[in-house]
Amino acid sequence: MKASDWQWQLQNRAKTLEQLFALRPDILGGPMEKEIRGRQKAFDGTAHQFRFSVTPYYLSLASRTELDPIWRQILPDEAELSDHRFTQPDPLAEESHMPVPGLTHRYPDRVLWYLSHNCAVYCRFCMRKRKVSRSESAPTLHQRNAALEYIRSNRAISEVILSGGDPLSQSDEILYSILSELKRMDHLSSIRIHTRMPVTCPQRITASFARMLRRLEPITVVTHFNHAQECTEQSARAIRQIRRSGCLVLNQSVLLSGINDSVRAQRDLQHQLLRMGVKPYYLHQCDEVQGVSHFRVNLSRGMELQKELRGRNPGISLPLYVIDLPGGGGKVPVDSSYFVQKSPPEFKNFEGHRFAVHPDIPENSGRLSASQSSPGGESI
Ligand SMILES: *Cc1c(COP(=O)(O)O)cnc(C)c1O
Ligand code: SF4
Repeated sequence: MKASDWQWQLQNRAKTLEQLFALRPDILGGPMEKEIRGRQKAFDGTAHQFRFSVTPYYLSLASRTELDPIWRQILPDEAELSDHRFTQPDPLAEESHMPVPGLTHRYPDRVLWYLSHNCAVYCRFCMRKRKVSRSESAPTLHQRNAALEYIRSNRAISEVILSGGDPLSQSDEILYSILSELKRMDHLSSIRIHTRMPVTCPQRITASFARMLRRLEPITVVTHFNHAQECTEQSARAIRQIRRSGCLVLNQSVLLSGINDSVRAQRDLQHQLLRMGVKPYYLHQCDEVQGVSHFRVNLSRGMELQKELRGRNPGISLPLYVIDLPGGGGKVPVDSSYFVQKSPPEFKNFEGHRFAVHPDIPENSGRLSASQSSPGGESI
């Protein structure tokens, strides 16, 4: 096996500090070694809850000398351990909208199916930290069959979204058996796969995986690039394989403090995506999940960014900026008539119900510097 093989990438992931340094000896003796060693407490403190793990490929994208958007997405931070702002592991109530284990049915016509709790790389801002990275909670064959049966017998469902963790952590055989079963259900008009593999382990998109997609197309593949630095030649090749198999490729990203919360970062990312033939779909407000609040950008700053981008960039490069309402209200566009009140902020969901969201007081919003926060220190 070699570096171009996805199994090799997964088996050779850095899971400890020492493995990280072994994969990146070039950072030894420099400022990044110091930075990373300074995080020993964060590595130790988060290990039992949300693992550290990164593929040699993704690690190779990180800067030799500075804490760049790649490092910020993968390195544990002490802020994860002392998050007093958000205390809920599942604010979107995904677990309570589960008719069968592993399947969230929140919208009347769509189900989200968690096919795996493993990912190639664990992103520190993950909104499913409560279960992602824990191998003991992976769905069993029995649960997969129960989910298929639920979908088969609910003709109101028109779309199935394979999610996780990363559904592409499953083998092609398992994926093929699930996808071909879904394709046989004539009440489904759409099948989606949500995966970060094209970003974190593009080697996963093999010729045989692409052939499988071709047999099943059309399928929509929604990937998850957060920064232009992730748009490499390897990723572009993976995306090309998926597109040539006849599938539509969209991207969703998360608005992340210190990573992509500038006009420049957003613009560069969206343009790189268009170059690869990927349509930016959603830009997510970071959820109110425990242990991620240092990544949050306040809503007014998020809206400002969108205003600066619109009109100055191709319309097709602009994702919809959305917030997933705490309590399970579903996603709504932030800058819209769904926004009903300014202080404290509230949104109406698709059924007209009101949901309060956290006001995100700028003084507390993680790494945002004073110059980046909203004018006048407005609280939403
Ligand atoms: C995001 C999400 C979907 C998909 O929503 P779209 O707006 O159609 O992309 C479906 N179910 C759940 C539970 C979700 O969180
Ligand atoms: S790939 Fe997605 S599910 Fe996996 S850790 Fe990252 S954000 Fe979470």
